[in-house]
Amino acid sequence: MGEEEKDILYPLFELLSIPSVTQDRANVRFASDWLLAYLSQSADHVKRIETNSNPIILAEWQSSHSDQSPTVLLYGHYDVQPPGDLSLWSSDPFKPEIRDGRLFARGAGDNKGQFYAHLRAIEHLVEHESLEWNVKLLLDGDEEQGSPFLEDALEQNLEFFQEIDLIIVSDGPAHVSWRPSLVFGARGILTFQLKVKLAKKDVHSGNFGGIQPNAAWALLDLIETLREPFTERCLIKGFYENVIDPDLEATKAALDLPLDEDNLKEQLGISFFGGESSYPLPFRVMFRPTMNLRGISSGGVKTEARTIIPAEAIAELDCRLVPYQDPEIIATKIRDHFQNLREDPRYARLLDHTSLSFGASFKPLYTPVSSPWTGFIEQALKTGFGQEPVRVPLLGGSLPVAVLNEKTKAPLFILPYAQPDQSNHAPNENILLSWLYQGIETSKALFSILPSNIPE
Ligand SMILES: [Zn+2]
Repeated sequence: MGEEEKDILYPLFELLSIPSVTQDRANVRFASDWLLAYLSQSADHVKRIETNSNPIILAEWQSSHSDQSPTVLLYGHYDVQPPGDLSLWSSDPFKPEIRDGRLFARGAGDNKGQFYAHLRAIEHLVEHESLEWNVKLLLDGDEEQGSPFLEDALEQNLEFFQEIDLIIVSDGPAHVSWRPSLVFGARGILTFQLKVKLAKKDVHSGNFGGIQPNAAWALLDLIETLREPFTERCLIKGFYENVIDPDLEATKAALDLPLDEDNLKEQLGISFFGGESSYPLPFRVMFRPTMNLRGISSGGVKTEARTIIPAEAIAELDCRLVPYQDPEIIATKIRDHFQNLREDPRYARLLDHTSLSFGASFKPLYTPVSSPWTGFIEQALKTGFGQEPVRVPLLGGSLPVAVLNEKTKAPLFILPYAQPDQSNHAPNENILLSWLYQGIETSKALFSILPSNIPE
């Protein structure tokens, strides 16, 4: 490692060495101490906000020149996923190691390495008096558990979130084509559970077959009402209300993304695609919501198989939501759906013994592809990565940050600085050093240039 590389990587190594797993409050706090000290070296203001869980860090840098400069809000998170089975890691997840041009550590890509790229760029620009933007930074300590206190933190620090022109989140992997990527949003999510309990206990399927009703069949009767057979079209009334009708630019961006269908089938080991067949594949994973049955549990199978009538059955489902669906409204529609089924007494007597409960939800995020900021950000990605970026209208997955652009009214863009095989949440998480450096160059290009006219 050369001196310059050492200088860039040393602080990141320190940060990655702190095992700030979301649930490990002491180590997350230790990481927040480290960040406070580190950020204080270059920022004009640094602040730690206490929440009911882990702290949130705020920092601020003034533009080197004009107070008329636009203000960008950068969002990142310094908590990490647990490392999981250590035997699957080739090196200690909290002893960063470089192999084959990659930096291996838990958090290398998700998300310490990615926000660190922004920090390095800002430090460089401050030092050379060429920071043209005002920069605000929010580092979350609870992202991996859905940022339950982010909204509170915003409410209590409204001043910090005023007059933001643009929000940038560098998280997630770049598009599978390995091209630098500009992402305009992410699907939201709503999870729920249906639990049917029809009897005291499981009983002999011979002795009581024909007498005790079967909770597993009852559950299937209920979940069958949620979707049209074979098509995956959701039958909940009003489910598709407010679903985005992508404009020409979003449509073009989705259809332009490189996608090899045969390769994808082979990679997944599937012989046909799921989802709504009337929509092209990129639409199904971006612009269409899903009703996913993610697990069923009742009775026993394999080594647990017994000839019984199960007394209880549980199904868990998740809906991936698209702009402009709202998880709360969809939850109401799901409740109404089961309420309406009660008109049929056969459903009513099952529903008397069924509980419906909702779990985590995130709202979808979306900035139109035709946003006046698009060209400006693309130019910075092109400068940083030396190639034309792809436009990804929506990530299939979800991010808990909709509250940021709701409160600030500023458009939000996602610029992943980690390569597609970063293995986030998995063993041997890593970031390619070349991607890290190209990320730093992208941030330098972004914040050292003022957009010719600041879009309203
Ligand atoms: Zn993550």
